[in-house]
Amino acid sequence: MSGTLYLVPTPIGNLGDLSPRAVETLGAADFVAAEDTRVTLKLLNHFGIKKPLVAYYRHNTQAGGQAILRRLLAGENCALVSDAGTPAVSDPGEELVALCVAHGVPVTALPGPCALTTALSVSGLPTGRFTFEGFLAMNKKNRRDHLKSLEREARTMIFYEAPHKLASTLADLCQTFGPDRPVALCRELTKLHEEVTRTTLGQALARYQAEPPRGEFVLVVAGATPQAPPAASPEEALERVARLRETGLGLKEAVRQVAQELDIPRNRLYALAVEREK
Ligand code: SAM
Repeated sequence: MSGTLYLVPTPIGNLGDLSPRAVETLGAADFVAAEDTRVTLKLLNHFGIKKPLVAYYRHNTQAGGQAILRRLLAGENCALVSDAGTPAVSDPGEELVALCVAHGVPVTALPGPCALTTALSVSGLPTGRFTFEGFLAMNKKNRRDHLKSLEREARTMIFYEAPHKLASTLADLCQTFGPDRPVALCRELTKLHEEVTRTTLGQALARYQAEPPRGEFVLVVAGATPQAPPAASPEEALERVARLRETGLGLKEAVRQVAQELDIPRNRLYALAVEREK
């Protein structure tokens, strides 16, 4: 029988955020697969956990994934961790999970620290509906296409970004959504210098063009405000009434239908329609 792949979220800054269940799972696994074994070794040492470590990172997902899969199929349990946060969210763990699922290996996810949900919850922006956009592509065309697809997005949008690319990303977001769009810049979450700046894209851009950003950022951008459709003109309403009349409908019924459809006062439309038919 095959073993299980455990997805173990690790702190995004504050070591106190590693859950007791995460410690237990890391301690019980046969081996730990880590994005950067040096980073994870420090974490394991801090919690007094001794475990064989294997590297699983962006550029060895093929060979590394197959090696982990073989061990899982042979019955070993593996705990997968990323450098920080929840594995498989904007990191190569996604591919290992897909590989295990394809080979019928059980996958169990532990809930825990995640930069995306931490930023969303503290942003002060609507959380009822949101869309996670990860990192914007470096490639200009992909980046433009990605942003274009979001032009009319009404849900709150969440982006990950590296500090050296923050200013250019803010400039692109400003261009797509306008300088007045609200944004929460969530920096160094759970760390000593945690800072949440609730501002507009234009003001954020001005700030970070003038000062180099430091630390890790999540950008939470407000969705577009839904635009009310333009109100129908009296001529347009009367035109619709006339068309319905041509189908044989009585004046009152035609007016009732059009008034309901266009959400306009029925009495006023009726008076205008009577006037027109005189
Ligand atoms: N899988 C991780 C997660 O979802 O929690 C994220 C991995 S992704 C490679 C790294 C990105 O997460 C960073 O570039 C930054 O946008 C965000 N991030 C991670 N830790 C953060 C922190 N403490 N404060 C703000 N953003 C953070």
